[in-house]
Amino acid sequence: MDEKYFPESIEEKWQKVWAESGAFEAERDPAREKHFYCLEMLPYPSGFLHMGHVRNYSIGDALAWFKRLQGYNVLHPMGWDSFGQPAEQAAIKRGVMPRDWTEQNIAHMRAQFKRMGFSFDWRREIAAHTPEFYKWDQWFFLKMLERGLAYKKVSPVNWCPAESTVLSNEQSSGGVCWRCGAAVEKRDIEQWFLRITNYAEQLLEDMREIGGGWPERVLTMQRNWIGKSSGAYIDFRIKDTDERVRVFTTRIDTIYGANAIVVAPDHPLVERSPLKEDVRRFAERVRAASMQAREPGAVEEKEGINTGLLAINPFSGEPVPVWAGNYVLTEYGTGAVMSVPAHDERDFEFAQKYSLPIRRVIGRVSHDQPQIAHDPTHSDQSAAMDQAFTEYGVLVQSDDWSGKLSEDAMREMAEFAESRGFGERAVTYRLRDWGVSRQRFWGAPIPVVYCDACGVVPVPESDLPVVLPERAEFTGAGQSPLAGVPEFVNTTCPKCGSAARRETDTMDTFVDSSWYFFRYCDPQNSEAPFDREKVAYWTPVDQYIGGVEHAVMHLLYTRFWTKFMRDIGLVTFDEPVKRLMTQGMVVAETFYREGETAGSKVYFNPSDVDVVRDQKGRISSATLVKDGQPVTVGPFEKMSKSANNGVDPNEMIQNYGADATRLFTFFAAPVENDLRWQEAGIDGALRFLRRVYNFVYRWREALAGAPKDAQAAGEFSAEARGLRQATHRTVERVTNDFEGLRYNTAVAALMELLNSLGDFQAQPRSAAPADLFAVRESVEALVLMLAPFCPHVSEEMWEALGHEGGLLKGGARWPAFDPALARRDEVEIAVQVNGKLRGRVNVSADASEDETRAAALSDERVRAWTEGKQIIKTVVVPGRLVNVVVKG
Ligand SMILES: [Zn+2]
Ligand SMILES: [Zn+2]
Repeated sequence: MDEKYFPESIEEKWQKVWAESGAFEAERDPAREKHFYCLEMLPYPSGFLHMGHVRNYSIGDALAWFKRLQGYNVLHPMGWDSFGQPAEQAAIKRGVMPRDWTEQNIAHMRAQFKRMGFSFDWRREIAAHTPEFYKWDQWFFLKMLERGLAYKKVSPVNWCPAESTVLSNEQSSGGVCWRCGAAVEKRDIEQWFLRITNYAEQLLEDMREIGGGWPERVLTMQRNWIGKSSGAYIDFRIKDTDERVRVFTTRIDTIYGANAIVVAPDHPLVERSPLKEDVRRFAERVRAASMQAREPGAVEEKEGINTGLLAINPFSGEPVPVWAGNYVLTEYGTGAVMSVPAHDERDFEFAQKYSLPIRRVIGRVSHDQPQIAHDPTHSDQSAAMDQAFTEYGVLVQSDDWSGKLSEDAMREMAEFAESRGFGERAVTYRLRDWGVSRQRFWGAPIPVVYCDACGVVPVPESDLPVVLPERAEFTGAGQSPLAGVPEFVNTTCPKCGSAARRETDTMDTFVDSSWYFFRYCDPQNSEAPFDREKVAYWTPVDQYIGGVEHAVMHLLYTRFWTKFMRDIGLVTFDEPVKRLMTQGMVVAETFYREGETAGSKVYFNPSDVDVVRDQKGRISSATLVKDGQPVTVGPFEKMSKSANNGVDPNEMIQNYGADATRLFTFFAAPVENDLRWQEAGIDGALRFLRRVYNFVYRWREALAGAPKDAQAAGEFSAEARGLRQATHRTVERVTNDFEGLRYNTAVAALMELLNSLGDFQAQPRSAAPADLFAVRESVEALVLMLAPFCPHVSEEMWEALGHEGGLLKGGARWPAFDPALARRDEVEIAVQVNGKLRGRVNVSADASEDETRAAALSDERVRAWTEGKQIIKTVVVPGRLVNVVVKG
């Protein structure tokens, strides 16, 4: 045991102790009812830990430690989201096989995780790319197929015509192929989908169960993504034909204001258009626009073309033109909408652009509404409208429906349409089925075969897993690499035994992440995805931690997957995660200026850059400094902010140790906020740890002789009592902060407690027994509360304080606080009016300035001197004095 703080040797020592003693290994134990599943989103094994990882896993690790010290049986596992495109890209670029590349990366990152000392139960490690894992992806797929939840349909993909290959969205960004630069086309191919839309209503409804534990913004994003709307389908007949076009509307009450029907450019009706050649050219142009721009929520200019067809409004009998528009999507609703510019912002914009008539059919509700309805001066209000009126109101210019309120008209008009057979009430969702086909090699093969006689045949469960071949050709061009491996593709039909071909699409990697955390509960099971009893003990997850970028896809898919698992009897609950925390990013500023040659950049070490910030923390100017002097290159031309690069965790750990690196991430910002990386901050964390460490070593021998309990300690001096109060208050505060994941304020409280200890006057050699008791109580609490943040050095100090067996195996417990000691004392405050003492009030010792001021001003004796006078200002000296300055 060393008296000077050397993080490296301490960290190495305890990592070895933890591994050898199985300190973080957790087993299901029905006798231990207090159990806790602490989960962080599993990483993609890119090969290197970045500061975002360090922060994410430090947050979860601290919580796992806290719960363990509270006596919980804690499951805290780790694994790898190890399928996906980068491995295949590495194969194309460098000829290394995806498996080799992936497994090297995992080995490297695992070592980095271990160097950080994260308290994972490594026996439970899983990796998505292993057949032991993806066998169960395939098994789930077959279960969905059996139940009609997996199906095939034609759907567009990004296509490079030069290389005849399918491209992902990333590979076709900007509308050009990432490899050859050819313009990307859309091509329709058959792909596999999972029917998540069957669960749309449950995905909305069950948000009630998790409402208190999930960030509201995540739930809002999911709600918007699901996009439920209640309304009606209405059929418009095409003039001079028997053909009908069905539209969906949430505002049937506005149907008398419809000036057009707008259909998707690829709507089948377009074939009947007399101008179909023009429309086709328009449709091609729209299709060429990137797929991303057509995602929901994307801003795009509305464009359209008149098809020359007319449709008959079934309510008014009026003919309206049929347009094709780029903002109507075949995938949503019916692929056709009615355009009501007076009462819809998007339609208003469209009508203005193409000079379409605007007719107002909803008026504001007012007392003279019957007059509005029938007053001829209101018959054309279009000239008066400079924007859409989108609220509910009262119907005008709507035949017999005029005078009705929107709410009533919506119900009655839908019923009327239903009774006349030209429409029906309906609920629609924006949510679409989940396309899981990927035309890639590095994913779980979809377990079906194609037989000329039998069609699509599922692979029998007993033949799972369908294993990926060891090797393939990776050229980046032509068909999927899997399709080029005959040993894989050619098989026999499980039904009739004749020659058949395997499906060469692999599954979206979001399939793996939808259920991986159930597998952690029983990672070696070869008979089933997991044992139900084991999963029933650990799940639902008590706390999940990850980035908000997963708010919609991953977190929606895993909720869907859980509901499916419930429906096939694997779990008994609806929701997989009780509490969710989405942490902010780690941002590092990089500084550069334009280089000698066009487009080149010269980067500078951030510590050499002198930055001036405005009040909001944004950089207003920056100058390069060397040896304290500004360098002539002058101010920077450009600055950029980048996440997760520029700071190498390895370097930080080498220079400062894992504990200080972790401590900095907790202290620098609230967990849900972005964290700005500053090396000075980590230096401060290291200095704090040194101070705690030195304090422990200065006192450890004396503390060995401290009395065992407060009774035996004798009389406490005022100072010792003060220290005890500080200790118990800190325990109360830090315990509450942990429950609320307010780590930054918890660390601040620990720093304050160390200051209280530092201020303690008694010296180790001469301290009275009561002083020794107070110091030991305080320093032990400090070490225990520091353990979740900085476990290595805390273990070392705990041992130095005479405890054996380590914090967890030795049975250390999170400190309890005595409410009587933690209670804040009241202090007396003198109140002056114009400098003369006029009263005294009692406030709690930690009262804020406002509370103190309010107490002073409401005191009766003080009010006698202030009543009827103007209070010019009040000066508050916290804990001591209030001076009220009055005039008149
Ligand atoms: Zn290409
Ligand atoms: Zn067959």
